[in-house]
Amino acid sequence: MMPSLGRSIAGALLAFSAASGAAAQQPTRLAALKQEAARDVEARAQLTQQMVDQIFSFGELGFQETETSRYLVDLLRRNGFTVREAIAGMPTAWLATWGSGKPVISIGSDIDGIPQASQKPGVACRSPLVEGAPGHGEGHNSGLAVNITAALAVKRLMERERLPGTIQIWPGVAEELVGAKAYFVRDGVFRDADIAIFSHVDNNLATSWGDIAGNGLVSVLYSFQGRSAHSAGAPWRGRSALDAVELMNIGWNYRREHLRLQHRSHYVIPDGGDQPNVVPPSASVWYYLRELDYPHIQELFAVADSIARGAALMTGTTLAPVRILGSAWPGHFNRVIAEALYENIKQVGLPTWSEPDQRLARALQRELGVSDSGLATRLDTLRPALRANERRGGGSDDIGDVSWNLPTATLRFPSNIPGLPGHNWANAIAMATPIAHKGATAGAKVMAMTLLDFLLRPELVQQAWAYFRNVQTKDVKYQPLIRPQDRPATELNQGIMARFRPAMRRHYYDPSKHRTYLEQLGIAYPTVRAPDGSCAGGATP
Ligand SMILES: [Zn+2]
Repeated sequence: MMPSLGRSIAGALLAFSAASGAAAQQPTRLAALKQEAARDVEARAQLTQQMVDQIFSFGELGFQETETSRYLVDLLRRNGFTVREAIAGMPTAWLATWGSGKPVISIGSDIDGIPQASQKPGVACRSPLVEGAPGHGEGHNSGLAVNITAALAVKRLMERERLPGTIQIWPGVAEELVGAKAYFVRDGVFRDADIAIFSHVDNNLATSWGDIAGNGLVSVLYSFQGRSAHSAGAPWRGRSALDAVELMNIGWNYRREHLRLQHRSHYVIPDGGDQPNVVPPSASVWYYLRELDYPHIQELFAVADSIARGAALMTGTTLAPVRILGSAWPGHFNRVIAEALYENIKQVGLPTWSEPDQRLARALQRELGVSDSGLATRLDTLRPALRANERRGGGSDDIGDVSWNLPTATLRFPSNIPGLPGHNWANAIAMATPIAHKGATAGAKVMAMTLLDFLLRPELVQQAWAYFRNVQTKDVKYQPLIRPQDRPATELNQGIMARFRPAMRRHYYDPSKHRTYLEQLGIAYPTVRAPDGSCAGGATP
């Protein structure tokens, strides 16, 4: 969304002359404030650790992040933020705002977990807290701890220095379902924002600009209706919706050979019938259809639609209206914001890892059969924009939708271990340990320093918009993948959470009783496989 103020040429000239007039003392004042913010972030390390551990212990799946959102909304309100809850039709979504005037800086990070990723932190072998339950096997428990710590440090300086500007904080609800951010955009959440900075867990302190290496996607549910009958007594009277699902998948997997190499697609069967002696009258299959850009995503979607119609025709079933459960534009990140982030990344540097941190990392890497290189000790370089032929497809994040509506970049911070599979219990192990805590503090320093850059140097906002208008969106215009009739799929994951929440609740972190979550769980850090092959797995309270 275009900000309403400061976009005229006269405004730009005024901003420029003001900036050059103050140029002599501005860098030193800015540098001093940045150093102070970094020290303040360091002083808030315990709060950062508590947020990381608390959200880890909730382990909630997309659209069901009720405890996580309650906790964060209360914390932000206690710290002076105004919070609008249940935004864009999602009960767990919210927008927190503090400050007044320009620039408006919108910072977000994801909060949802991964199915079946429940795992004891600090234990370098498979050891669930609750068997079969979800957990933070993507590390989404850490990003808002980064953003909120940074915002609190910067807020204190803004109050003291009377700096104009507004900070918005929001959660990436249901990112694993790419379920929320396109609706945020459609609902005007970013209408008043000048720039967006996103944060995401990684194993290094990094950022990038230009097109992402991964894909965008549509998440689509194909539901078929047949007719039930006694599977043995009168099968000829039935029409199996499951047959349609199976034939659709067979059709898709044959067609796969003739799709572009950059595509990715995968499916699960949420409904495959009830029991074998009843011809399934209903069945559904859920596809993620990923490609590099909007036209190719739409092409892929059209292929899937034709195969679904063919499967219905073959089986005498009917295809229900196709539901879009989520979507993501492939991200494109802003050069000006990324370069500002990277300057601060170089100043902050990677955390100092302890010997136990490295021991946990190496033990897990050996457990997974990958190179036991340990934790990152050298900063990544600022990756320049990828060329078209370097884009080979991969994962998606609906921050892509935000990135095509206002200048946006992602700060990646080092709270996890290199060489992990992603979306897996192994990715949860470091996420409530000193590795995650130190990585989040490093990320919060960079975030705070970058907020100050954009608060004190209005020309940076102008430059970010110049890149957005003249480079990024010169030939590509955003059009949502969600259709006007689509609504957030907030019913997803309700069943799983209803089943596991009672058992998970017993493991919620209580910071009033325990300094850290590891301490509460009674886990020796690190717990690694013993020479005899056994893995203690920590004590379950
Ligand atoms: Zn993620």
